Amino acid sequence: MAVQLAHRGRSLLSELAKCATPTAARFLHRHPTEMTLLEMLGSTNLRRSTPEDYRILREIVKSFERYSGVGNDIQLTLPERSANELIMIEKKREYEKGIMDPSKFAPGHHIFQVLHTVKQSPLFQVLRKMPKGAALKTHDTSMCSSRAVIEMTYRENLWVCTTHKGCRVVEFRFAKEKPKDLRHEDGEWQPMEKLRELRGEENLRKYLRVRLSMYPLASFTTNALAWRHMMGIFNLLDGLLQYAPLWGDYYYNALKEFYADGVQYLEVRSVLPELYCLDGSRLPKRETVQIYMDSLKRFKQEHPGFIDSKLIYAPIRHVQPEVVGQYVKECTELNKEFPNFVVGFDLVGQEDKGHPLSKFAEELLKLPEHINFYFHAGQTNWYGSHVDQNLLDAIVLGTKRISHGYTITKHPILMRLAKYLNIALEVCPVSNQVLQLGSDYRSHPAATLIAENVPMVVSSGNPGFWRAAPLSHDFYMAFLGIAPMTADLKFLKRTAKNSIRYSSLKDEGKAEAMEKWKKEWDKWVAKIVAEKDQALEDKK
Ligand SMILES: [Zn+2]
Repeated sequence: MAVQLAHRGRSLLSELAKCATPTAARFLHRHPTEMTLLEMLGSTNLRRSTPEDYRILREIVKSFERYSGVGNDIQLTLPERSANELIMIEKKREYEKGIMDPSKFAPGHHIFQVLHTVKQSPLFQVLRKMPKGAALKTHDTSMCSSRAVIEMTYRENLWVCTTHKGCRVVEFRFAKEKPKDLRHEDGEWQPMEKLRELRGEENLRKYLRVRLSMYPLASFTTNALAWRHMMGIFNLLDGLLQYAPLWGDYYYNALKEFYADGVQYLEVRSVLPELYCLDGSRLPKRETVQIYMDSLKRFKQEHPGFIDSKLIYAPIRHVQPEVVGQYVKECTELNKEFPNFVVGFDLVGQEDKGHPLSKFAEELLKLPEHINFYFHAGQTNWYGSHVDQNLLDAIVLGTKRISHGYTITKHPILMRLAKYLNIALEVCPVSNQVLQLGSDYRSHPAATLIAENVPMVVSSGNPGFWRAAPLSHDFYMAFLGIAPMTADLKFLKRTAKNSIRYSSLKDEGKAEAMEKWKKEWDKWVAKIVAEKDQALEDKK
């Protein structure tokens, strides 16, 4: 026995061994002011350990690591354990292939380069069918696939404005007659059918598929350019989707696509535009909300397994404080009229531009307490800048969740506060890569959130613009690229459950939602087990 350990005798080792049980590890994790493992280890001289001491200590420290990450509070059922075996075989297969040849590891690449390979991966196939609970971060006009949006350009009375002699589409508008106003210098309005005829239907579809996505941009462009390109897509979609009869159909289709991807509950951040009619007149914002609610009612009637959807009013942040004051008033009014649907407030748009949250604090604090904040914050790479400080302001202003929070791991105090105040981070891996915050999923900061067990959910942001599945690609990258190799079904289950736990649903709503999700989850697990058994049977 080494001198130093011997000095405290065997009692130190046995004390540490006691701490290594899951309960003790969790206890220490929740009570960081208690005698911690670090302090215990600090009181001894590790260089004087015997090989036996070393082995025991190694096991103890390892078990602390194992029990501290996301998902380790979950106990798997027997069928889940069986399904987990298969999931881990597939995960390890991709990992091992990657270790042998890193160029074959999908999370090491830009999503645009591996989108199709990922779709064929057996692990992705399993995750695609997984009941994921909720998608808590989506934006009103970037939820649907471009295929669905292109179908919408076949609607009656659609005009299209083009420049460069008909080569570049710059605006859409529904109208009985040719629009008279021109926002583009050499712009020219023509009926959509005519453009389709001129350019050929297939050619135009291909062209629109590119225009309505971030492709072919790849990792070599800057964050600012990626943002500019993305805002260009939003602007192009305005004239098409803000047509009142189409707005509800777009949302209905989004619910359909998300539901098919294993999402049973959706929170949409909307700028709530004043929609227009065929005669050019505009409807008040409350009509936009009413259209959402009518489509949701129809969707829920037709899809009883779907849980619900809520709306977070999220207007553009690049304004003066008095405008934010106006937004707050609008949100309060809308919440009064639609208390079960308009449930939160946020500000959207590129954080690096415009004012920080602190500038709006006075106005924001006028929002009635029962309407929650769900702020975008820390979606930047400028550590220590005023933009980076939005994280601090979001927390101090009482946000319930943080969208992205990409820089939070650089602020340990804020990270601890998020954990202590139970503020969940909405992690959107694919969005962060496409908008140039990071290139390799293995270096995504959420790995630290996972290791530290900070509340988090996986979400997607604007999947329609990157041709990704509504949520499955984000889950795949988070599970394979960000979480540790050992993260298994427990991680997936905790993440799915978190999405309901940190939703804006009230407690009884959460209980009901959890039940609906669990029903699907159990079915999914049973199916994996049955397929596994069948495969074993076939091998005999
Ligand atoms: Zn966003």
